[in-house]
Amino acid sequence: MIAFYSLYGSPQVRRLHILHPGRERARPKWRYDRPPMKEGFCGTAGWDCSDGAGRHVIDPLPEVPPSRLTWCPTCVGRAAEHLGMLSGFARLVARKAIGVAS
Ligand SMILES: [Zn+2]
Repeated sequence: MIAFYSLYGSPQVRRLHILHPGRERARPKWRYDRPPMKEGFCGTAGWDCSDGAGRHVIDPLPEVPPSRLTWCPTCVGRAAEHLGMLSGFARLVARKAIGVAS
C-alpha cells in the first residue's frame, strides 16, 4: 500500500492518507485532459499520487507517520476493513474502552 499527503495547507494539520488501490475518479472539468485521479480511502484527492503533483508519496506505507504528520482516521479504518482486519481492530477498541488490557 501507498501513503500520501498534501503539500498544501497548514503544516499543523497534515494528515497521512492511504491510497485506495484501484479507486479512481473523474477529474474536475478544468483537468479533463488528464487521466482519472487516484484517491485515498477517505476520498481525499490523490491526483496523480506522485511527487511533484501537490502530493508527497510514501511507498510502501510506513508503520509510523513521518514527524509532523498524523494518520487520517478514516483512511486507517477503511484500510483495515479492506484488509479484513476491521473485526479484530474493533475488538481492540472495545477492550480499550472497557479498560481490559490487550
Ligand atoms: Zn484519508
